[in-house]
Amino acid sequence: MHYVSTRATSASAARNPHGFSDILLGGLAPDGGLYLPADYPQVTGAELDAWRSLSYADLAYEILRKFATDIPEADLKALTAKTYTAEVYRNARADESAAEITPLRVLEEGAKGKLILQGLSNGPTLAFKDMAMQLLGNLFEYALAKNNDELNIFGATSGDTGSAAEYAMRGKRGIRVFMLSPHAKMSAFQTAQMFSLQDPNIFNIAVEGVFDDCQDMVKAVSNDLEFKARHKIGTVNSINWARVVAQVVYYFRGYLKATTSNEQKVSFTVPSGNFGNICAGHIARMMGLPIDKLVVATNENNVLDEFFRTGVYRVRKPAETFHTSSPSMDISKASNFERFVYELVGRDADRTHALFRKVDTHGGFDLSGAPGSDGDEFKRVAAYGFVSGCSKHEDRLNTIREVFDDYGITIDTHTADGIKVAREHLAPGVPMIVLETALAAKFNETILEALGTDAERPAGFENIEALPQRFVVMKADVAQMKAYIAERTSAERTAP
Ligand SMILES: *Cc1c(COP(=O)(O)O)cnc(C)c1O
Repeated sequence: MHYVSTRATSASAARNPHGFSDILLGGLAPDGGLYLPADYPQVTGAELDAWRSLSYADLAYEILRKFATDIPEADLKALTAKTYTAEVYRNARADESAAEITPLRVLEEGAKGKLILQGLSNGPTLAFKDMAMQLLGNLFEYALAKNNDELNIFGATSGDTGSAAEYAMRGKRGIRVFMLSPHAKMSAFQTAQMFSLQDPNIFNIAVEGVFDDCQDMVKAVSNDLEFKARHKIGTVNSINWARVVAQVVYYFRGYLKATTSNEQKVSFTVPSGNFGNICAGHIARMMGLPIDKLVVATNENNVLDEFFRTGVYRVRKPAETFHTSSPSMDISKASNFERFVYELVGRDADRTHALFRKVDTHGGFDLSGAPGSDGDEFKRVAAYGFVSGCSKHEDRLNTIREVFDDYGITIDTHTADGIKVAREHLAPGVPMIVLETALAAKFNETILEALGTDAERPAGFENIEALPQRFVVMKADVAQMKAYIAERTSAERTAP
Protein backbone atom coordinates (compact mmCIF):
# COMPACT_ATOMS: atom_id res chain seq x y z
CA MET A 1 0.00 0.00 0.00
CA HIS A 2 1.46 3.36 -0.92
CA TYR A 3 0.23 6.91 -0.52
CA VAL A 4 -0.09 9.85 -2.87
CA SER A 5 -0.65 13.55 -2.32
CA THR A 6 -3.90 15.11 -3.53
CA ARG A 7 -1.73 17.67 -5.34
CA ALA A 8 1.00 15.41 -6.74
CA THR A 9 1.48 15.11 -10.46
CA SER A 10 1.56 11.45 -11.45
CA ALA A 11 5.26 11.72 -12.29
CA SER A 12 6.20 12.98 -8.82
CA ALA A 13 3.99 10.36 -7.14
CA ALA A 14 5.72 7.61 -9.09
CA ARG A 15 9.09 8.98 -8.11
CA ASN A 16 8.24 9.26 -4.41
CA PRO A 17 6.12 6.36 -3.24
CA HIS A 18 5.33 6.82 0.44
CA GLY A 19 4.61 4.03 2.88
CA PHE A 20 2.37 4.37 5.94
CA SER A 21 5.36 4.84 8.25
CA ASP A 22 6.78 7.58 6.00
CA ILE A 23 3.71 9.77 6.44
CA LEU A 24 2.85 8.75 10.02
CA LEU A 25 4.68 11.57 11.77
CA GLY A 26 3.96 14.24 9.17
CA GLY A 27 1.11 16.53 8.24
CA LEU A 28 0.76 18.12 4.82
CA ALA A 29 2.63 16.68 1.86
CA PRO A 30 5.55 18.91 0.75
CA ASP A 31 3.44 20.07 -2.24
CA GLY A 32 0.74 21.32 0.16
CA GLY A 33 -1.67 18.45 -0.53
CA LEU A 34 -3.05 15.73 1.75
CA TYR A 35 -2.03 12.09 1.63
CA LEU A 36 -4.41 9.36 0.49
CA PRO A 37 -3.88 5.69 -0.42
CA ALA A 38 -3.17 5.19 -4.12
CA ASP A 39 -6.14 2.76 -4.10
CA TYR A 40 -8.65 1.95 -1.38
CA PRO A 41 -8.32 -1.60 -0.09
CA GLN A 42 -11.57 -3.51 -0.61
CA VAL A 43 -13.40 -5.65 1.92
CA THR A 44 -15.21 -8.81 0.90
CA GLY A 45 -18.49 -10.16 2.23
CA ALA A 46 -16.57 -13.06 3.76
CA GLU A 47 -14.38 -10.62 5.68
CA LEU A 48 -17.38 -8.69 6.95
CA ASP A 49 -18.95 -11.96 8.12
CA ALA A 50 -15.78 -12.95 9.94
CA TRP A 51 -15.45 -9.51 11.53
CA ARG A 52 -18.90 -9.54 13.15
CA SER A 53 -17.67 -11.48 16.16
CA LEU A 54 -14.33 -9.69 16.65
CA SER A 55 -13.45 -7.46 19.57
CA TYR A 56 -12.97 -3.78 18.75
CA ALA A 57 -9.19 -4.13 19.06
CA ASP A 58 -9.09 -7.11 16.67
CA LEU A 59 -11.34 -5.33 14.19
CA ALA A 60 -9.03 -2.31 14.35
CA TYR A 61 -6.10 -4.60 13.62
CA GLU A 62 -7.85 -6.18 10.60
CA ILE A 63 -8.61 -2.78 9.09
CA LEU A 64 -5.30 -1.10 9.92
CA ARG A 65 -3.24 -3.90 8.44
CA LYS A 66 -4.75 -3.09 5.06
CA PHE A 67 -3.34 0.43 5.31
CA ALA A 68 -0.18 0.07 7.42
CA THR A 69 1.41 -2.66 5.33
CA ASP A 70 4.94 -1.64 6.35
CA ILE A 71 4.39 -2.36 10.08
CA PRO A 72 4.94 -6.03 11.04
CA GLU A 73 1.56 -7.64 11.77
CA ALA A 74 2.47 -8.81 15.27
CA ASP A 75 3.52 -5.27 16.20
CA LEU A 76 0.32 -3.79 14.82
CA LYS A 77 -1.75 -6.35 16.70
CA ALA A 78 0.03 -5.48 19.95
CA LEU A 79 -0.53 -1.76 19.33
CA THR A 80 -4.28 -2.09 18.72
CA ALA A 81 -4.65 -4.47 21.68
CA LYS A 82 -2.93 -1.95 23.94
CA THR A 83 -5.04 0.96 22.64
CA TYR A 84 -8.62 -0.29 22.51
CA THR A 85 -9.24 -1.53 26.04
CA ALA A 86 -12.13 -1.16 28.46
CA GLU A 87 -9.75 0.66 30.83
CA VAL A 88 -8.91 3.38 28.29
CA TYR A 89 -12.54 3.77 27.13
CA ARG A 90 -14.03 3.43 30.57
CA ASN A 91 -16.46 6.37 30.56
CA ALA A 92 -19.40 4.51 29.03
CA ARG A 93 -22.83 5.18 30.56
CA ALA A 94 -23.71 3.03 33.55
CA ASP A 95 -25.99 0.78 31.48
CA GLU A 96 -23.48 0.38 28.63
CA SER A 97 -20.51 -1.94 28.30
CA ALA A 98 -17.09 -0.30 28.27
CA ALA A 99 -15.68 -3.43 26.59
CA GLU A 100 -17.73 -2.52 23.53
CA ILE A 101 -15.45 0.58 23.17
CA THR A 102 -18.11 2.29 20.98
CA PRO A 103 -21.43 1.02 22.39
CA LEU A 104 -24.60 1.35 20.30
CA ARG A 105 -27.89 2.51 21.83
CA VAL A 106 -31.16 2.31 19.93
CA LEU A 107 -33.06 5.55 20.60
CA GLU A 108 -36.16 4.91 18.58
CA GLU A 109 -37.58 2.47 16.10
CA GLY A 110 -40.71 3.74 14.43
CA ALA A 111 -42.50 4.08 11.11
CA LYS A 112 -40.02 6.75 10.03
CA GLY A 113 -36.97 4.59 10.69
CA LYS A 114 -34.53 3.47 13.35
CA LEU A 115 -32.32 5.98 15.16
CA ILE A 116 -29.17 4.70 16.88
CA LEU A 117 -26.50 6.50 18.90
CA GLN A 118 -22.91 5.21 18.67
CA GLY A 119 -20.86 6.36 21.68
CA LEU A 120 -17.39 7.47 20.57
CA SER A 121 -16.63 9.61 23.60
CA ASN A 122 -15.78 7.17 26.35
CA GLY A 123 -12.04 7.78 26.24
CA PRO A 124 -9.97 9.86 28.68
CA THR A 125 -11.03 13.31 27.41
CA LEU A 126 -14.70 12.48 26.81
CA ALA A 127 -14.64 13.29 23.09
CA PHE A 128 -14.33 11.20 19.92
CA LYS A 129 -10.85 12.54 19.21
CA ASP A 130 -9.54 9.98 21.73
CA MET A 131 -10.57 7.18 19.33
CA ALA A 132 -7.77 8.10 16.94
CA MET A 133 -5.41 10.02 19.18
CA GLN A 134 -4.89 7.16 21.64
CA LEU A 135 -3.75 4.94 18.78
CA LEU A 136 -1.57 7.74 17.41
CA GLY A 137 0.23 8.03 20.76
CA ASN A 138 1.12 4.34 20.68
CA LEU A 139 2.04 4.39 16.96
CA PHE A 140 4.28 7.43 17.45
CA GLU A 141 6.06 5.90 20.44
CA TYR A 142 6.57 2.68 18.47
CA ALA A 143 7.90 4.42 15.33
CA LEU A 144 10.21 6.74 17.28
CA ALA A 145 11.67 3.90 19.35
CA LYS A 146 12.36 1.94 16.16
CA ASN A 147 14.40 4.81 14.73
CA ASN A 148 15.85 5.87 18.06
CA ASP A 149 14.35 9.28 17.36
CA GLU A 150 12.27 11.82 19.21
CA LEU A 151 9.47 14.25 18.48
CA ASN A 152 8.34 17.51 20.04
CA ILE A 153 4.67 18.10 19.31
CA PHE A 154 3.83 21.78 19.17
CA GLY A 155 0.27 22.96 18.78
CA ALA A 156 -2.46 25.37 19.76
CA THR A 157 -5.85 24.44 21.13
CA SER A 158 -9.07 26.04 22.22
CA GLY A 159 -10.19 22.79 23.82
CA ASP A 160 -10.76 19.26 22.49
CA THR A 161 -7.76 18.58 20.26
CA GLY A 162 -5.13 19.75 22.71
CA SER A 163 -6.41 17.69 25.58
CA ALA A 164 -6.87 14.57 23.41
CA ALA A 165 -3.26 14.96 22.21
CA GLU A 166 -1.91 15.41 25.75
CA TYR A 167 -3.77 12.39 27.12
CA ALA A 168 -2.52 10.30 24.19
CA MET A 169 1.12 11.38 24.50
CA ARG A 170 1.52 11.61 28.29
CA GLY A 171 4.33 9.44 29.56
CA LYS A 172 5.29 8.31 26.03
CA ARG A 173 9.01 7.81 25.47
CA GLY A 174 10.64 10.10 22.92
CA ILE A 175 7.70 12.51 22.83
CA ARG A 176 7.11 15.91 24.39
CA VAL A 177 4.00 18.04 23.94
CA PHE A 178 4.09 21.85 23.98
CA MET A 179 0.48 23.01 23.87
CA LEU A 180 -0.58 26.65 23.67
CA SER A 181 -3.99 27.77 24.83
CA PRO A 182 -5.48 31.24 25.35
CA HIS A 183 -4.95 32.19 28.99
CA ALA A 184 -8.17 32.08 31.05
CA LYS A 185 -10.35 31.60 27.95
CA MET A 186 -11.16 27.88 28.09
CA SER A 187 -13.94 26.47 30.26
CA ALA A 188 -12.98 25.53 33.83
CA PHE A 189 -13.51 21.86 32.98
CA GLN A 190 -11.33 21.95 29.86
CA THR A 191 -8.62 23.92 31.64
CA ALA A 192 -8.60 21.48 34.53
CA GLN A 193 -8.46 18.51 32.19
CA MET A 194 -5.30 19.77 30.51
CA PHE A 195 -3.52 21.59 33.30
CA SER A 196 -3.97 18.89 35.93
CA LEU A 197 -1.64 16.59 33.97
CA GLN A 198 1.59 16.29 35.94
CA ASP A 199 3.56 14.26 33.39
CA PRO A 200 7.02 15.74 32.83
CA ASN A 201 6.72 15.42 29.02
CA ILE A 202 3.61 17.64 28.87
CA PHE A 203 4.04 21.42 28.77
CA ASN A 204 0.93 23.57 29.02
CA ILE A 205 1.54 27.15 27.96
CA ALA A 206 -1.21 29.68 28.65
CA VAL A 207 -0.71 32.57 26.23
CA GLU A 208 -1.84 36.06 27.18
CA GLY A 209 -4.10 36.53 24.17
CA VAL A 210 -6.84 34.81 22.17
CA PHE A 211 -6.77 31.52 20.24
CA ASP A 212 -5.63 33.29 17.04
CA ASP A 213 -2.54 34.60 18.88
CA CYS A 214 -1.71 31.02 19.84
CA GLN A 215 -2.15 29.84 16.27
CA ASP A 216 0.00 32.68 14.94
CA MET A 217 2.79 31.60 17.29
CA VAL A 218 2.55 28.01 16.05
CA LYS A 219 2.75 29.27 12.45
CA ALA A 220 5.74 31.49 13.25
CA VAL A 221 7.64 28.61 14.80
CA SER A 222 6.62 26.18 12.01
CA ASN A 223 7.82 28.63 9.35
CA ASP A 224 11.29 28.68 10.91
CA LEU A 225 12.44 25.51 9.16
CA GLU A 226 15.88 25.50 10.75
CA PHE A 227 14.41 25.68 14.27
CA LYS A 228 11.78 23.11 13.37
CA ALA A 229 14.32 20.59 12.12
CA ARG A 230 16.81 21.25 14.92
CA HIS A 231 14.21 20.70 17.63
CA LYS A 232 12.25 17.95 15.83
CA ILE A 233 8.99 19.86 15.94
CA GLY A 234 5.86 18.11 14.68
CA THR A 235 2.08 18.41 14.92
CA VAL A 236 -0.93 16.16 15.42
CA ASN A 237 -3.62 18.09 13.58
CA SER A 238 -6.71 16.59 12.01
CA ILE A 239 -5.18 16.11 8.56
CA ASN A 240 -2.81 13.42 9.88
CA TRP A 241 -3.55 10.33 7.82
CA ALA A 242 -3.20 7.87 10.71
CA ARG A 243 -5.88 9.76 12.61
CA VAL A 244 -8.26 9.47 9.68
CA VAL A 245 -7.62 5.78 9.21
CA ALA A 246 -8.10 5.00 12.92
CA GLN A 247 -11.53 6.58 12.58
CA VAL A 248 -12.47 4.27 9.72
CA VAL A 249 -12.67 1.43 12.25
CA TYR A 250 -15.70 2.68 14.16
CA TYR A 251 -17.78 2.98 10.97
CA PHE A 252 -17.19 -0.75 10.41
CA ARG A 253 -17.95 -1.42 14.04
CA GLY A 254 -21.19 0.58 13.93
CA TYR A 255 -22.31 -1.20 10.76
CA LEU A 256 -21.50 -4.68 12.07
CA LYS A 257 -23.29 -4.08 15.38
CA ALA A 258 -26.40 -2.52 13.80
CA THR A 259 -26.94 -5.26 11.20
CA THR A 260 -27.11 -9.04 11.02
CA SER A 261 -26.39 -9.56 7.32
CA ASN A 262 -24.26 -7.84 4.68
CA GLU A 263 -27.37 -7.38 2.54
CA GLN A 264 -28.40 -4.58 4.91
CA LYS A 265 -27.34 -0.96 4.67
CA VAL A 266 -27.01 1.73 7.33
CA SER A 267 -26.57 5.51 7.20
CA PHE A 268 -24.39 7.66 9.45
CA THR A 269 -24.90 11.21 10.64
CA VAL A 270 -21.72 12.97 11.72
CA PRO A 271 -21.44 16.26 13.64
CA SER A 272 -18.81 17.88 11.44
CA GLY A 273 -16.24 20.65 11.47
CA ASN A 274 -12.96 19.94 9.72
CA PHE A 275 -14.43 16.96 7.80
CA GLY A 276 -11.97 14.55 9.45
CA ASN A 277 -14.54 12.30 11.06
CA ILE A 278 -16.91 11.97 8.11
CA CYS A 279 -13.97 11.63 5.71
CA ALA A 280 -13.26 8.35 7.49
CA GLY A 281 -16.88 7.32 6.80
CA HIS A 282 -16.38 8.14 3.15
CA ILE A 283 -13.28 5.94 3.09
CA ALA A 284 -15.16 3.07 4.77
CA ARG A 285 -17.82 3.39 2.06
CA MET A 286 -15.18 3.42 -0.70
CA MET A 287 -13.78 0.21 0.80
CA GLY A 288 -17.13 -1.43 0.22
CA LEU A 289 -18.86 -1.05 3.58
CA PRO A 290 -22.61 -1.00 2.78
CA ILE A 291 -23.28 2.61 3.80
CA ASP A 292 -26.30 4.29 2.23
CA LYS A 293 -26.09 7.96 3.27
CA LEU A 294 -23.33 9.96 4.93
CA VAL A 295 -25.12 12.90 6.53
CA VAL A 296 -22.96 15.94 7.28
CA ALA A 297 -24.37 17.86 10.25
CA THR A 298 -23.04 21.38 10.86
CA ASN A 299 -23.89 24.13 13.30
CA GLU A 300 -24.32 27.80 12.33
CA ASN A 301 -20.87 27.58 10.70
CA ASN A 302 -22.39 25.88 7.69
CA VAL A 303 -19.56 25.91 5.13
CA LEU A 304 -20.00 22.19 4.49
CA ASP A 305 -23.80 22.20 4.52
CA GLU A 306 -23.70 24.94 1.89
CA PHE A 307 -21.41 22.86 -0.34
CA PHE A 308 -23.47 19.70 -0.04
CA ARG A 309 -26.64 21.62 -0.86
CA THR A 310 -25.34 23.83 -3.68
CA GLY A 311 -21.89 22.76 -4.90
CA VAL A 312 -20.40 26.08 -3.79
CA TYR A 313 -17.48 25.90 -1.34
CA ARG A 314 -17.00 29.30 0.24
CA VAL A 315 -14.68 29.61 3.24
CA ARG A 316 -15.68 32.13 5.87
CA LYS A 317 -13.80 35.19 7.06
CA PRO A 318 -13.03 35.46 10.78
CA ALA A 319 -15.86 37.99 11.20
CA GLU A 320 -18.31 35.49 9.62
CA THR A 321 -17.23 32.61 11.88
CA PHE A 322 -19.57 32.30 14.84
CA HIS A 323 -18.75 31.24 18.40
CA THR A 324 -21.47 28.71 19.10
CA SER A 325 -22.52 26.33 21.85
CA SER A 326 -21.06 23.46 19.79
CA PRO A 327 -17.62 25.11 19.67
CA SER A 328 -15.63 22.16 18.31
CA MET A 329 -17.50 22.62 15.03
CA ASP A 330 -16.80 26.37 14.77
CA ILE A 331 -14.70 26.32 11.62
CA SER A 332 -14.18 28.77 8.76
CA LYS A 333 -12.89 26.11 6.37
CA ALA A 334 -12.74 22.33 6.53
CA SER A 335 -9.13 21.16 6.47
CA ASN A 336 -9.83 17.56 5.37
CA PHE A 337 -12.31 18.48 2.64
CA GLU A 338 -9.60 18.33 -0.04
CA ARG A 339 -9.49 14.56 0.40
CA PHE A 340 -13.08 14.28 -0.84
CA VAL A 341 -12.77 16.92 -3.57
CA TYR A 342 -9.82 14.98 -5.02
CA GLU A 343 -12.10 11.95 -5.29
CA LEU A 344 -14.97 14.00 -6.69
CA VAL A 345 -12.86 15.39 -9.55
CA GLY A 346 -11.73 11.88 -10.51
CA ARG A 347 -8.43 11.92 -8.61
CA ASP A 348 -7.13 14.68 -10.85
CA ALA A 349 -4.36 16.25 -8.75
CA ASP A 350 -3.86 19.23 -11.08
CA ARG A 351 -7.55 20.07 -10.88
CA THR A 352 -7.52 19.66 -7.09
CA HIS A 353 -4.50 21.91 -6.81
CA ALA A 354 -6.14 24.58 -8.99
CA LEU A 355 -9.37 24.48 -6.97
CA PHE A 356 -7.56 24.90 -3.65
CA ARG A 357 -5.36 27.63 -5.11
CA LYS A 358 -8.63 29.37 -5.84
CA VAL A 359 -9.63 28.94 -2.20
CA ASP A 360 -6.50 30.93 -1.30
CA THR A 361 -6.97 33.61 -3.95
CA HIS A 362 -10.78 33.89 -4.21
CA GLY A 363 -12.04 32.35 -0.97
CA GLY A 364 -13.64 29.29 -2.56
CA PHE A 365 -14.81 27.50 -5.70
CA ASP A 366 -18.04 26.52 -7.40
CA LEU A 367 -18.69 23.03 -8.79
CA SER A 368 -22.41 23.60 -9.34
CA GLY A 369 -22.15 23.59 -13.13
CA ALA A 370 -23.78 27.05 -13.33
CA PRO A 371 -22.46 29.40 -16.05
CA GLY A 372 -19.03 30.70 -15.01
CA SER A 373 -18.54 27.99 -12.35
CA ASP A 374 -15.36 25.94 -11.91
CA GLY A 375 -16.93 22.65 -12.94
CA ASP A 376 -20.07 20.53 -12.70
CA GLU A 377 -18.91 17.69 -10.44
CA PHE A 378 -21.52 18.58 -7.83
CA LYS A 379 -23.89 16.33 -9.80
CA ARG A 380 -21.73 13.37 -8.76
CA VAL A 381 -21.90 14.09 -5.01
CA ALA A 382 -25.06 12.00 -4.56
CA ALA A 383 -23.22 8.92 -5.85
CA TYR A 384 -20.92 9.18 -2.82
CA GLY A 385 -23.91 9.15 -0.47
CA PHE A 386 -23.37 12.65 0.92
CA VAL A 387 -26.27 14.79 2.12
CA SER A 388 -26.30 17.48 4.80
CA GLY A 389 -28.16 19.72 7.18
CA CYS A 390 -27.48 22.34 9.83
CA SER A 391 -28.58 23.14 13.35
CA LYS A 392 -28.56 26.26 15.50
CA HIS A 393 -28.47 27.06 19.22
CA GLU A 394 -32.25 26.83 19.67
CA ASP A 395 -32.27 23.43 17.90
CA ARG A 396 -29.55 22.17 20.24
CA LEU A 397 -31.50 23.19 23.33
CA ASN A 398 -34.70 21.58 22.01
CA THR A 399 -32.93 18.39 20.95
CA ILE A 400 -31.13 18.02 24.30
CA ARG A 401 -34.52 18.39 26.06
CA GLU A 402 -36.33 15.97 23.76
CA VAL A 403 -33.64 13.30 24.03
CA PHE A 404 -33.61 13.67 27.80
CA ASP A 405 -37.42 13.48 28.05
CA ASP A 406 -37.87 10.67 25.53
CA TYR A 407 -34.89 8.43 26.20
CA GLY A 408 -33.62 9.49 29.64
CA ILE A 409 -30.07 10.33 28.55
CA THR A 410 -28.21 13.62 28.34
CA ILE A 411 -26.38 14.31 25.09
CA ASP A 412 -23.79 16.97 24.40
CA THR A 413 -24.32 19.96 22.11
CA HIS A 414 -22.40 18.54 19.11
CA THR A 415 -24.30 15.27 19.27
CA ALA A 416 -27.51 17.32 19.47
CA ASP A 417 -26.62 18.93 16.15
CA GLY A 418 -26.23 15.41 14.79
CA ILE A 419 -29.58 14.12 16.09
CA LYS A 420 -31.43 17.17 14.83
CA VAL A 421 -30.08 16.70 11.30
CA ALA A 422 -30.33 12.88 11.38
CA ARG A 423 -34.08 13.10 12.01
CA GLU A 424 -34.45 14.98 8.72
CA HIS A 425 -32.85 12.06 6.87
CA LEU A 426 -34.43 8.99 8.46
CA ALA A 427 -35.52 6.29 6.03
CA PRO A 428 -37.53 3.13 6.82
CA GLY A 429 -35.42 -0.01 6.59
CA VAL A 430 -32.07 1.79 6.82
CA PRO A 431 -30.87 2.28 10.40
CA MET A 432 -29.47 5.78 11.01
CA ILE A 433 -26.41 5.81 13.28
CA VAL A 434 -25.57 9.17 14.86
CA LEU A 435 -22.01 9.47 16.10
CA GLU A 436 -21.82 10.82 19.66
CA THR A 437 -18.75 13.07 19.45
CA ALA A 438 -18.54 14.26 23.07
CA LEU A 439 -20.11 13.64 26.47
CA ALA A 440 -22.37 16.28 27.93
CA ALA A 441 -20.15 16.95 30.96
CA LYS A 442 -17.73 18.82 28.69
CA PHE A 443 -20.31 21.41 27.72
CA ASN A 444 -22.22 21.78 30.94
CA GLU A 445 -23.17 25.46 30.49
CA THR A 446 -25.51 24.60 27.64
CA ILE A 447 -26.86 21.54 29.42
CA LEU A 448 -27.75 23.77 32.33
CA GLU A 449 -29.48 26.15 29.95
CA ALA A 450 -31.43 23.33 28.28
CA LEU A 451 -32.34 21.15 31.27
CA GLY A 452 -31.89 23.36 34.34
CA THR A 453 -29.63 20.71 35.88
CA ASP A 454 -25.96 19.81 35.55
CA ALA A 455 -24.77 17.11 33.20
CA GLU A 456 -23.70 13.92 34.91
CA ARG A 457 -19.92 13.57 35.27
CA PRO A 458 -18.27 10.20 34.74
CA ALA A 459 -16.49 8.70 37.75
CA GLY A 460 -13.14 10.31 38.44
CA PHE A 461 -14.10 13.71 37.02
CA GLU A 462 -16.13 14.89 40.03
CA ASN A 463 -13.57 17.29 41.47
CA ILE A 464 -11.30 17.82 38.52
CA GLU A 465 -11.31 21.62 38.92
CA ALA A 466 -9.83 21.25 42.43
CA LEU A 467 -6.75 19.28 41.31
CA PRO A 468 -3.37 21.03 41.33
CA GLN A 469 -2.57 22.59 37.95
CA ARG A 470 0.76 22.67 36.13
CA PHE A 471 1.18 25.39 33.46
CA VAL A 472 3.13 28.51 32.62
CA VAL A 473 1.74 31.85 31.50
CA MET A 474 3.57 33.53 28.64
CA LYS A 475 3.20 36.65 26.51
CA ALA A 476 2.47 36.17 22.80
CA ASP A 477 6.19 36.53 22.08
CA VAL A 478 7.72 34.15 19.53
CA ALA A 479 11.33 34.61 20.69
CA GLN A 480 10.41 33.79 24.26
CA MET A 481 8.45 30.74 23.07
CA LYS A 482 11.37 29.43 21.04
CA ALA A 483 13.71 29.87 23.99
CA TYR A 484 11.26 27.96 26.21
CA ILE A 485 11.10 25.04 23.78
CA ALA A 486 14.85 25.06 23.13
CA GLU A 487 15.63 24.81 26.84
CA ARG A 488 13.47 21.71 27.13
CA THR A 489 14.47 19.71 24.05
CA SER A 490 17.53 17.52 23.96
CA ALA A 491 18.94 19.13 20.80
CA GLU A 492 19.83 22.13 22.93
CA ARG A 493 21.06 20.07 25.86
CA THR A 494 23.48 18.08 23.70
CA ALA A 495 24.60 21.06 21.60
CA PRO A 496 28.33 21.82 22.01
C1 LIG B 1 -13.53 17.80 16.62
C2 LIG B 1 -14.98 17.66 16.96
C3 LIG B 1 -15.98 17.65 15.98
C4 LIG B 1 -15.70 17.87 14.51
O1 LIG B 1 -15.00 16.80 13.93
P1 LIG B 1 -14.29 16.96 12.51
O2 LIG B 1 -13.48 15.75 12.34
O3 LIG B 1 -13.44 18.21 12.62
O4 LIG B 1 -15.36 17.12 11.47
C5 LIG B 1 -17.30 17.45 16.38
N1 LIG B 1 -17.61 17.29 17.68
C6 LIG B 1 -16.67 17.31 18.66
C7 LIG B 1 -17.09 17.16 20.07
C8 LIG B 1 -15.32 17.49 18.34
O5 LIG B 1 -14.40 17.52 19.31
